[in-house]
Amino acid sequence: MFESTVKSVLDLWVAEEMGSNLHEFSDAISKNQKELRSQILSFATSKSVFYRTHMGISLEITPEIVQRDWQSVPFTTAEDIKLRGLEMLCCSQDDIKRVVTLETSGTTGTPKRLYFTEHDQKRTIDYFRVGMDTFTNVGDKVLILLPCEREGSIGKLLGNALKLGGKTPILQGVVKDLQETFKVIEELEPDVIVGIPFQVLALVKYGVFMNKGIITVKKMLLSTDFVSQTAVKFIEQYWHCEVFRYYGMTESGFGGGIECRCHEGYHLYESDFYIEIMDPISGNCLPVGETGEVVITTLKREGMPLIRYRTGDQSRMISEPCGCGSVLKRLDVIKTRLNGRIQLYGGDYLTKGEVDDVLLDIKSLVDYKIQFKRNKVQDTLCLQLYYLSDAVDEQFIIERLKGIETIKRALKQNKLSIGVDSIIVKTDYCPHPAKRKIEE
Ligand SMILES: [Zn+2]
Repeated sequence: MFESTVKSVLDLWVAEEMGSNLHEFSDAISKNQKELRSQILSFATSKSVFYRTHMGISLEITPEIVQRDWQSVPFTTAEDIKLRGLEMLCCSQDDIKRVVTLETSGTTGTPKRLYFTEHDQKRTIDYFRVGMDTFTNVGDKVLILLPCEREGSIGKLLGNALKLGGKTPILQGVVKDLQETFKVIEELEPDVIVGIPFQVLALVKYGVFMNKGIITVKKMLLSTDFVSQTAVKFIEQYWHCEVFRYYGMTESGFGGGIECRCHEGYHLYESDFYIEIMDPISGNCLPVGETGEVVITTLKREGMPLIRYRTGDQSRMISEPCGCGSVLKRLDVIKTRLNGRIQLYGGDYLTKGEVDDVLLDIKSLVDYKIQFKRNKVQDTLCLQLYYLSDAVDEQFIIERLKGIETIKRALKQNKLSIGVDSIIVKTDYCPHPAKRKIEE
């Protein structure tokens, strides 16, 4: 049987979108992207009050400028979206079909609002359709554990995309009860699950705890949050399925990139997004291979284009060609977000991803929270751990954490203390998805 892959599906789609064919594709991408960048910049500055003032009126946008001087185009930030979101619109408010509100954790607590036209929503469906087509087959039953309630919600759009690709979507929604969702999986036997990493991991752990295995799920797509390799391994080990990671955020209209079967970074949707890696301190673009902040430009967004938007995600571009044969650029897996890390005494950063890596394979641990208290002499890292059954002893957890170099160093210098608080939650507990990534 013909097997769908990133090369056979996503490369072809991007080539078609760019009016090219697969033979002269590599050259066409970079040429076409320059034109698209020029067009979106010109569109945004002519239609939106924000971009007109933000870019400076003197900026004459020509393809040459974009080619020569793209780095002088100012960045857009989360703060801009929070404070001037409406001014970023490039259409009348009547043309907006969907508004997604993201709660943020900043001091002001002002939420981010993202606006999408009907055309933008159709693009989102395309991103999902083509992404799902790279690893699923016609006729597959796909269980969706993402927000599904509202019209235009991520789950509904994904459902529509799956139908277009000849698959059967089951719109279940965000997991609220592990027991209930597990039962649904047992009864409906989906071939594929799409969900939020921490929730899916909890479902697998619930199964391990109940001594019940799931063998019918063949593939899984995890999105909406960064995904620890430890979690991926755990899921694959217990459910014997293949896990694919997807790079997409609300800000990008849920498009971005997807892993191929080599699982070494996301292949990018280059017809619709231009991705740069930037040094967060100097603001300069970094060469391929170096790690920095991911900056994204939406090339085809109609309602609210984002130009050089600082995502806060940290990653790097991979220069080596992928084993799958795709020519699409690859972004390495997101290891951390700039706002998902803590600066320890002495300047070292501790990231949530590092903590995930050392804790998430503990079988009965379904969730944890970190509170960091800064004191004059010594900082305190308070961990609240949620277990399905017996708690693991505190020393064991501390030993695991010492596996993280920055923690080991801080402990040695007496600059850090660790407090562990274990809570037995039993099976009626369900981890709540990170608020910033949920659209409802
Ligand atoms: Zn690949």
